[in-house]
Amino acid sequence: MSTSLIYHAFGLRDYFYKTTRFIGGVLTFEIFPKPEAIKCPECNSRSVVKRGVIKRTLRTIPVGSRPVILKTAIQRVWCPICKFVRQIKLSFSKEGKSYTRAFERYVLELSQFMTIKDIASHLRISWDTIKQIQKAHLTRRYRSIPLKKVKRIAIDEISIGKGHQYLTIVMDLESGRILHVGDGKGGDALKFFWQKIKISKAGIEAISIDMSPAYLSAVIENMPGTAIVFDRFHVVKLFNEKLSEFRRDLYKHLSNSGEQKLIKGTRWLLLKNPENLQKNKGEAEHLQKALEVNQPLSTVYYMKEELRQIWNQSDKNTGGKVLENWINLANVSDIQMLKKFAKTLGLHRNRILSFYDYAISTGPLEGTNNKIKTMKRKAYGYRDFEFFKLKLLDLHNKKYALIG
Ligand SMILES: [Zn+2]
Repeated sequence: MSTSLIYHAFGLRDYFYKTTRFIGGVLTFEIFPKPEAIKCPECNSRSVVKRGVIKRTLRTIPVGSRPVILKTAIQRVWCPICKFVRQIKLSFSKEGKSYTRAFERYVLELSQFMTIKDIASHLRISWDTIKQIQKAHLTRRYRSIPLKKVKRIAIDEISIGKGHQYLTIVMDLESGRILHVGDGKGGDALKFFWQKIKISKAGIEAISIDMSPAYLSAVIENMPGTAIVFDRFHVVKLFNEKLSEFRRDLYKHLSNSGEQKLIKGTRWLLLKNPENLQKNKGEAEHLQKALEVNQPLSTVYYMKEELRQIWNQSDKNTGGKVLENWINLANVSDIQMLKKFAKTLGLHRNRILSFYDYAISTGPLEGTNNKIKTMKRKAYGYRDFEFFKLKLLDLHNKKYALIG
């Protein structure tokens, strides 16, 4: 092995090659610094006095499948200008790391196609070291995320793991990129995001959220002038929850066991879109019969179908008419649940109809949720929560995404 090869293969500028040892399948190259590498780490002065060495070993890129260790003695020097004793700077390794920069780059390259576990076993190094390299890289990469050009975003919570642990995700709806991951599901989870928005002078036009008050007040306060679009699917989902409760109450209060029998088992049929009812299972007939014997249930079911129509019109004006009509019908019904829901819709009219100005929803964010679930199965998520969040920020980045 020559000093020139050490330089070209391992990027070790300013070092001499001394010996090679091969023990237990591991190659160890002993190297020592050239005189020009011995200088003050602070002021680069070469008029320094040597003050002993510190022996160190560092992992570097393998030769074939053989791990390679660099063994060196780091010179300590006294600088008469700076007036202190320090170690000379290593050009090939970051301070305090047990591996070289070349090793780090190699791990990141492998990370594009291999899991942490695979890389660790391939390089015969610990899982934690590979993770540490990935984490440092992702931390650098996502220290600041450019927000200036972001126009349309969605905010929603995702549930992670058992118990009630939540993360709040902010997504750029144009690029599909996750812009922010906050702890929990309230307005507090967005605190740092508002700071980032202010600093970056982002001009966000529209934002999609659900109807829950948690995000709403925070958005109104921190993004004045941004159009709020209530996610249509969340509105329908909320109504479906009310519909299920309504059916359950109804069932409990029915004295006629014949009627009870008909309503039994309709919960899922009521929630299905009519076009999805399965003919061969007689789902439509079952639902039809249950609705025939029970007028209130029939009304609520009809209103569920009408609700979806609010977003299916050709323009905002017509959509508005459908919404007003819904509210009026609910108010003349004798059903409290409908009246209450109408009140909510009336309160948020503009945020519902703004869908016609900005046809956005939180749907893409829910799509990402599936990817996140796959990630969780790989089990690294919980060992280090910050790392898990960094991986989320990296999700959009298919080409460079670090897998496993
Ligand atoms: Zn100095």
